[in-house]
Amino acid sequence: MILSAATAPRYIGRFAPSPTGPLHLGSLYTALASFLDARQHQGLWLLRIDDLDKPRNAPGAADAIQHCLERFGLHWDGTVFFESRHRRDYHAHLHQLLQHQQLYACRCSRKQLEGHAVYPGFCRKQNWQITADTTLRVKTCEQTLSFHDRLQGLIENHLGSEHGDFIVRRRDRIIAYQLAVVVNDHLQAVNHVVRGIDLLPSTIKQLYLYQQLNYPPPIYMHVPVIVDATGAKLSKQTLAAPVDTQKPETTVFTLLQLLGQNPAPDLRGAPVAEQLAWGVAHWHPDALLDHKTLPTPAALAVTNDRGNLSTTALPR
Ligand code: GLU
Repeated sequence: MILSAATAPRYIGRFAPSPTGPLHLGSLYTALASFLDARQHQGLWLLRIDDLDKPRNAPGAADAIQHCLERFGLHWDGTVFFESRHRRDYHAHLHQLLQHQQLYACRCSRKQLEGHAVYPGFCRKQNWQITADTTLRVKTCEQTLSFHDRLQGLIENHLGSEHGDFIVRRRDRIIAYQLAVVVNDHLQAVNHVVRGIDLLPSTIKQLYLYQQLNYPPPIYMHVPVIVDATGAKLSKQTLAAPVDTQKPETTVFTLLQLLGQNPAPDLRGAPVAEQLAWGVAHWHPDALLDHKTLPTPAALAVTNDRGNLSTTALPR
């Protein structure tokens, strides 16, 4: 079926940070890319707080993230979706998968799995009883799945040998990211996902769940991530510094540069709203194709708690 503009569903995108700490430059970069893409498509841009993994949540981070986005003019549509308020939905989906015999209990210890990059299926035929605190894995199959990424092109993975039976509920009863993200995007009717390329390896797993649940998957675009001097993605683990919310004009300009958008020099220092309006009007994601990762710009030299993170110059 060919969709005309009148029948095509409205673009619904989202930004879904985990509240493990305040936003750092890398997360703001992704937020901006997804915002510009959604707004250029006259779409909705939703905010979701991925707060299911309670032990990793940092106190105050969800509020700090919202405050930061507001400071940078990244205003979202509707109310914020908190994962932790949707536990019933994840359980309903688990139940559905269980009923269709797509899950099994796994009792493997970490030690047993040492040296196995892909789960070797030890518990698949064991028929362990499922209790509230057993790890649940989804049965995958010998199937090659592929999708077209708007930036990365055709991505093809063999499910069995490259991913194996993956976890959908952890031993600590927490719903795993792979299932939660699929349920969330379905509940929010998200049809466009713009996120960091570090999540690309997860996408095939998520597509498999879409298949099993019989839901249409979104269209994906995986964008580069900003890395530190050691080549590691900026993250809380690498102790990336929170973005400075004092001078949003400077940061937005630099981010537009990092996104390869070539902002006009006279935009430097302009009010954030003006820079964003320019960014939306001129958004061309193909400019991101040159990079898989980007060094942290010296202009926003990031130091960490150890104070010893060196940075690489802004790419020209
Ligand atoms: N919450 C995830 C993160 O902060 C992102 C999930 C996604 O975009 O699919 O890395």
